[in-house]
Amino acid sequence: MSAGWDARYDVIVIGGGHAGCEAAAAAARMGARVLLLTHKRATIGEMSCNPAIGGLGKGHLVREIDALDGLMARAADAAGIQFRVLNTARGPAVRGPRVQADRRLYREAVQALLAGQPNLDIEAAAVDDIERDRAGAARGVVAADGRRFAAPAIVLTAGTFLRGVIHRGEERIPAGRIGDAPAIGLARALERLAFRLARLKTGTPPRLDGRTIAWDRLQVQPGDDPPVPLSYLTTGIANPQLPCHLADTTPETHAIIRANLHRSPVHAGRIAGTGPRYCPSIEDKVTRFADRDSHRIFLEPEGLDTDLVYPNGISTALPAEIQDAFLRTIPGLEGVRMVRPGYAIEYDHVDPRELRPSLETRRAPGLFLAGQVNGTTGYEEAAAQGLVAGINAALRAGGAAEPFAIDRADGYIGVMIDDLTTRGAPEPYRMFTSRAEYRLRLRADNADRRLTPLGIAAGCVGPERRRAFHVKQEAVRRAEDLLRARSASPDRLAALGFRVNRDGAPRSAMDLLALERGATGRFAEVWPELRELDELDPAAVEAVAVDSLYAGYLARQDADIRAYRRDESLVLPDRLDFAAVAELSNEVREVLSETRPRTLGQASRVPGVTPAAVLALMRYVKARPAAGPAAPAR
Ligand code: FAD
Repeated sequence: MSAGWDARYDVIVIGGGHAGCEAAAAAARMGARVLLLTHKRATIGEMSCNPAIGGLGKGHLVREIDALDGLMARAADAAGIQFRVLNTARGPAVRGPRVQADRRLYREAVQALLAGQPNLDIEAAAVDDIERDRAGAARGVVAADGRRFAAPAIVLTAGTFLRGVIHRGEERIPAGRIGDAPAIGLARALERLAFRLARLKTGTPPRLDGRTIAWDRLQVQPGDDPPVPLSYLTTGIANPQLPCHLADTTPETHAIIRANLHRSPVHAGRIAGTGPRYCPSIEDKVTRFADRDSHRIFLEPEGLDTDLVYPNGISTALPAEIQDAFLRTIPGLEGVRMVRPGYAIEYDHVDPRELRPSLETRRAPGLFLAGQVNGTTGYEEAAAQGLVAGINAALRAGGAAEPFAIDRADGYIGVMIDDLTTRGAPEPYRMFTSRAEYRLRLRADNADRRLTPLGIAAGCVGPERRRAFHVKQEAVRRAEDLLRARSASPDRLAALGFRVNRDGAPRSAMDLLALERGATGRFAEVWPELRELDELDPAAVEAVAVDSLYAGYLARQDADIRAYRRDESLVLPDRLDFAAVAELSNEVREVLSETRPRTLGQASRVPGVTPAAVLALMRYVKARPAAGPAAPAR
C-alpha cells in the first residue's frame, strides 16, 4: 500500500459505542467504504450503564434517529423487555417512549445490524493517533499495533475513554469503563492538535442479585400493554415482557451515606470533573436535598436470562463495603447480595464549540467528533450525534459541497447540536423536552414526517424504510381526506353526544378531532364510511389526530419557525474577523471568536451576545458583498 498505509477507506470511525455504531452504519448507508475501529468486537453496542433506551426527551431523539434509518430504535425493539410511554398524563408533544432492554440482546441486535450492513469493515484495534496532511486536514489513523489506515474523513467517538479514571472510595483505576483500558494516546493526540479539553464525570450504581431481593415487599411497575415499539419499522414485539419494581431509600440509608461522605471521591475533592446535575449520585442527592428522608429507586431487570438487577437512582462512588451496608437499609433489599459495586468515572471531553454544526472540527478539517467525547451524557445523545457525523463524513469523502444539518425547528437532534456548538458543555449535556422551543412540531409521533424526507434527500435512508415511509404518508393523506370530507350540523353532532357549540356552523370530522381526543371511535355513528379509518395504519391516524388537536397552536408556531429560519439563513463568512466589527464590545468579540457561529441565528444564541450585538453583526455582514446572498444553513 502506498505511503505505508495498511488500507484506505472513505470514512474511518473510531469507537464501537452508540455514537460509533450509528456513524459507521450511516456513512455506509450513504455508499461510503467504511472502517470501524474499536477496542473489542465483543463490546460493540455495549450499554455502559443503565439497560434502557429512550425516556423523556431521549425518546424523541431515538425516534429521530430511526426516522433517518439509524439502528438504535430497531435494536431496542429487538431487545425490549418492557415498553412504557412516559408522561402520558401530559400532552402528546412531551410524551417519551422508553424501552427497558436486555443488555445482551441489545448488543447482539446492534452487532447483527452492523454485520448486515454492506460497505462496512470492522477491526479490533486501539487507535493511538490521528494523522494530518500538510494543510492540517485529517488523512488517517495509527493503531497501537502500528497499523495505519487512511481516509479523508474520520469520526472519533471515544466515549468516556479519553484519559478515563474510575473512582470508588479511595481506589483510583485508569479505565474507559469497568474492564476496559483508557485511551491515553488518543487524548494526547487531541491535545497536540490544540483542542480545548476539559474533565467531566459520571457514575453508575451497584448491580444486585435479583434472587436475593424480597420482590413481594416492593411495588410493581408493569409495562404498557400492548407495548408501543420505538421504531417506525417494527410491527410486533417478540420478547416476553418483565415488570420493574419500585423501592425507596430510608433515613438509615442517608445516615450511612452522610457518615461516610469523606470517603466519597467527589466529596473528598479527589474528582475535579463536573457531573450531570440532573442525574446525581446518591451522595449528591443526600447532601443537596438534605430535607428529604427518602429517594425513589427503580429496580430494573438487566435481561431475560440473568438475575442481575440495575437499581436506577443510586449511582455511587462510595467504597464497596459502604455501598453494601446502605443497600441493606432499603426495604426489600435487607438480604440483597451486591454482585458488582458502583463507581464514578472521570474523563476528558472536547469543548463542542470547536465543532461546526456538521460535527466536523474546525482545527482539523475531515475530523468529526460525536458522542460523549463532545460533553454529552446518554446513549441517545451519543447515537444522534454519531448519525449526523457519519452522514457528514460520507458527504465530505464524496466531495459534497454542502453538509447535512438539522436545525432547531427540524428536530431535537438539531436542538442538541446547536446547543453544544453555541454554548459548549460546561456540565454533561442531556436532552430534555424543555430545551426545544418548537415542541408542538417536534413530537415523537411525527419524527418520520419531519426527518425521513431530509434523510432520503441526503441518501442515508435505505429502500425498506423509504417504502414504509411512503406507505404511511399515503395513509396519513387518506385519513386527512376522509376526515375533512365529512361534516355534519352541530345540532346533529350534539344530539349524538359530541361536545360542540350549537352555532349552526357545520363541523368536519377533522374539526371534532381537534376538540375531543379519541373522537374517532364514535365517528362511524355519524359517518359509516369512516369505518375505513380502522383499516388504515393506527399510527397514521394518530398522527393526524394529534395535528388536528394542536392545529391552532401549530399555525402560530410555524410563524415563529419562519422568523427563526430568516436569522438562520444569514450565513456568517467562515473567516469573519469579529474584532473588525466596530460596534461589538470586547467581551462579545471574544465569545464570538471562540464559538465562531455559522449563522446570525447561532450568534444570537451564544451566551453573552446581546440583541444590540446581533443587530451590529447583521449590519456589518449585510454591508459586505463577500457575505453574499445567504446559502441555507444546512
Ligand atoms: P461509548 O459508549 O463509551 O463508546 C466508546 C467506544 O469507543 C467504545 O467501544 C470503546 O471501546 C471505543 N474506543 C475508545 N477509545 C478508543 C480508541 N482509542 N481506539 C479504539 N476504540 C476506542 N448515560 C446515561 O444516560 N445515564 C447514565 O446513568 C449513565 N451513566 C454512566 C455511567 C458510566 C460508568 C459510564 C461509563 C457511562 C454512563 N453513561 C450514562 C453514559 C453512556 O454510557 C454514554 O453516554 C454513552 O455510552 C456514550 O456513547 P459513546 O458512543 O459516545 O461512547
